[in-house]
Amino acid sequence: MALILDGKAVAAAYKAKIKAKVDALAAQNITCGLAILLVGNDAASRIYADRLVKLATGLGVQAVVRHLPADATEEEVLALVCELNEDDHIHGILPMMPLPPHLATDRVAAALAPDKDVDALHPLNAGLVATGKSRWAPCTPRAVMAILDYYQIDVSGKHAVVIGRSNVVGKPLAHLLLGQNATVTVCHSKTRDLAALTRQADVIVAAVGRPALIGPDMVRPGAVVIDVGINEVNGAVVGDVDYDAVFPIAGAITPVPGGVGAVTTVMVVEAALRSFGDL
Ligand code: NAP
Repeated sequence: MALILDGKAVAAAYKAKIKAKVDALAAQNITCGLAILLVGNDAASRIYADRLVKLATGLGVQAVVRHLPADATEEEVLALVCELNEDDHIHGILPMMPLPPHLATDRVAAALAPDKDVDALHPLNAGLVATGKSRWAPCTPRAVMAILDYYQIDVSGKHAVVIGRSNVVGKPLAHLLLGQNATVTVCHSKTRDLAALTRQADVIVAAVGRPALIGPDMVRPGAVVIDVGINEVNGAVVGDVDYDAVFPIAGAITPVPGGVGAVTTVMVVEAALRSFGDL
């Protein structure tokens, strides 16, 4: 029976620290501002953006969604990024991904002011994370590390197998785990015999977007299983791990929902506060 790694408990600990920071800023008449840049009508992005606004506002951070239509031109998007970069009331900018296909994600990322770049999308921030020079990695990898830290799971010397190599989850997470002295294997869609690799893992992180990709035959008894995936199956939200089947084998496991996602949203608010120093 696995220890359930409760994202809500981790989030609560961070929320308390964020609130203390926000209150200290308020005493100096400073309000932190977060801008969420939403282009188009992707329903999941809209729901996520609204959830972020509710969370941030509840913590005393002024959050706004800046919405552009799905057919907004690159010039219009870059102009809005520029406006937010220059707005002294905005301390963090989060462009919701994916952007509509006619927009170049790289150019939008490169237009962000690096010190307001909540999800470390700017190449400078991605490079600093890759070279171990910045702890401000994208919010989801930081959420994974926050869960490990909260439950005092030391990864030093352990074999961590990360499944997924996106720039916003898998790759930066691999760098953060390396920074904590894990031995890291990064898997992806072209990996041969994924199960042979995951069975060697002390820590498995699944960040793919495929329900039940990780089954019980792929998990070494006692392994720590972190499920980043978010999938909808028959109206229910599930991760990439076959939770019920893996639960009796794993040493510890994150649920979906209530695992990594619950911490990621809090990491967004924390990142908006980064220009005011650590929590
Ligand atoms: P992504 O950009 O689509 O990347 C998916 C990765 O999975 C790619 O590297 C892909 O390999 C790999 N992959 C696909 N099929 C595979 C297979 N059969 N075996 C092994 N690897 C495979 O997605 P993402 O943005 O990283 O997000 C991953 C998942 O996490 C999604 O479900 C997303 O909704 C979720 N997510 C959750 C949170 C949270 O807070 N919980 C935050 C962000 C994302 P290739 O590189 O070879 O294509």
